[in-house]
Formats: sequence, structure tokens, C-alpha cells
Amino acid sequence: MANSGQKVVLITGCSSGIGLRIAVTLAKDEKKRYHVIATMRDLKKKDKLVEAAGDAYGKTLMLLPLDVCSDESVRQCINNVKDRHIDILINNAGVGLLGPVESISIEEMKKVFETNFFGVVRMIKEVMPDMKKRRSGHIVVMSSVMGLQGVVFNDVYTASKFAMEGFCESMAVQLMKFNIRLSMIEPGPVHTEFETKMMEDVAKMEYPGVDADTVRYFKDVYLPSSIDIFEAMGQTPEDIAQCTKKVIESNSPRFRNLTNSLYTPIVALKYADETGGLSVNTFYNLLFNFGPLMHITMSILKCLTCSCLRRRTISPN
Ligand code: NDP
Repeated sequence: MANSGQKVVLITGCSSGIGLRIAVTLAKDEKKRYHVIATMRDLKKKDKLVEAAGDAYGKTLMLLPLDVCSDESVRQCINNVKDRHIDILINNAGVGLLGPVESISIEEMKKVFETNFFGVVRMIKEVMPDMKKRRSGHIVVMSSVMGLQGVVFNDVYTASKFAMEGFCESMAVQLMKFNIRLSMIEPGPVHTEFETKMMEDVAKMEYPGVDADTVRYFKDVYLPSSIDIFEAMGQTPEDIAQCTKKVIESNSPRFRNLTNSLYTPIVALKYADETGGLSVNTFYNLLFNFGPLMHITMSILKCLTCSCLRRRTISPN
């Protein structure tokens, strides 16, 4: 149970990656300011989190089951929280989807939206009424750079994050009237199981209904560039956890929080030209005309951005 003065933080998707790291970072806060409710859809996957939490487990960190795709599971989870009182809700659970659209069924696409978009909406709908009554609260959403800028062959994942950005941008105004803050965290690539799961899915893909040229662009042009980008620009879950901690501890938390300043120019392209031509043409040229140059640039960047330098790129501040 939370001590008086402790903030109750509920986090979704804590079995691995960013969610796990945020839960552990907050639970190990030196001043013990947080009571962390780390949730996951399958508690059998708790071992990694429990091990990482160490002494904090059972003290400042507790576990609850929660599947963001189920109304019933969401309701039960929140009902199990004392007085349904949550100060900070961190919507982290998410799934990826990569590949040519022709080879992805509408059912698979709906599953991505069910988790990444409706999962967040479901959580907010359940927690927001109590926050409104108390006139206080902070809702944090793990978006992505891909919630701001479309990326080739990530069409559906990107669309799910754009949907969430639009939803939250609209909600933020109303919530401000109730003294509830809403913040988006927008990481670029992060080394987690997310990346591994997507690459495993891609290896299994058979690309039914996709023409040979598209398969070639995906496998021989996009995938190598994507791996280069992950290696050169990827952050760690710890980086994202530190950024999230800064956001929730800020007196005036920002709505948008890019975690990787190397991505700022990429996102800025879109706002520099309202016709959209600049960003579409730049991405086209980067992928199809300057592939070898990009490979060299990424290799140089990989050398320059050693882990200590990368750590310095975490925004805000
Ligand atoms: P992981 O795959 O390591 O973690 C995803 C988490 O979400 C897992 O705990 C997974 O649980 C959980 N999850 C998936 N579906 C559900 C569900 N229906 N209900 C509850 N939990 C669920 O990936 P990351 O840590 O990288 O991803 C976390 C968030 O960060 C995602 O929203 C992702 O979109 C975002 N992000 C990731 C980036 C990256 O490069 N890694 C970049 C930008 C944003 P289970 O173990 O049961 O599958």
C-alpha cells in the first residue's frame, strides 16, 4: 500500500523493455516518492521484473495483471487499486508491425490498433473520471517518433501512433481544465524485445500478394537501413526511463518529449514545408538514392555516438 505522500504510478506492459525499466527506476527512487503498480497481461512473465526490482519488490513495487485489450481486465485491475486512486498513469504497452501492407491482413492491423490506440483510450477512460474528481493527475503515453513522422513499411504501426497523438492532443486541452497533465514520450529506436520480435516476425513472413520489386525494396533496401539506424541511433530502455522520470517530476511537464535529439531535424522537416513535399522527397532520396551514403553516415554516427555521448542526448533539458 502507498504511504502518505507517495504518488501511485500505474504502468502498463511491464514484462519487458521500456515498461520494465520505468517501473524499476521509479520503484528504486532514492526518496521513495513512488508506489509503483507494475502491470502485465501474463504474470508468468514477472521474473525479469522481480529480479530487476530487487528489494523494492513488495515495498515500493507491486504487480497486477492487466491486458489493455480487455475492458474487463482493465476494470478489474483499476478496481484492485486502493480507492481506485492513481496519480500517474503510464501507458506503455504496445506492439509493432512491419512489412508491405499487401501482405498484412486487416485482422493483424486491427490487433495493432486494439493495443496501441484503443488500449490507451480504454485505460484513460477508466482512470480519468477519478482524476477529474480529484482535480489532479498526470497521464503519460509512450508514443514514438513514428507518431509524428511516417516511416516507410511501418505504415500501420505509424498510423496507430498518429491516431494516439491526435487523440491525446485533443484530450490535453480538456484535461488541463481539470488540472490533469498529459505528456507524450516520443522515442526513436530503442533496443528492446520490440525490435527482436519485429525482426523475428519479418523472418517468418512470406509476403503473399506482394510483387517482387516491393519485396526486394523491403528486404534489400529498407531492412539493412533500418538495422543501421537502430545500431547508430538506438537508445536504451534506461534512457527512456530517465526521460520519463524527468517528465513526471517536472513542475510544468511538456506535452511532447522527443527522447533522442538526433531525430529533431527529421521531425522538423515536416513543419518546415506545409506541402509535405520536403519530408516525402527527403525520405525517398535517403532510402532509394543515397542508400550507400546513408550506410556510411550511420557507420560514422555509430562510432561517434558511443554510449556516454548518447546518454547526453536525452531530452527534455
Ligand atoms: P517490448 O516488446 O519489450 O514491450 C512491450 C510491452 O507491451 C510488453 O510488456 C508486452 O507484454 C506489452 N503488451 C503488448 N500487448 C499488451 C496488451 N494487450 N496488454 C498489456 N500489455 C501488452 O517493447 P518496448 O519496451 O520497446 O515497447 C514499449 C512501448 O514503447 C511501446 O508502446 C512501443 O510502441 C514504444 N516504442 C518502442 C520503440 C522501440 O524502438 N523499442 C520506439 C518508440 C516507441 P507481453 O510480454 O505480454 O507481450
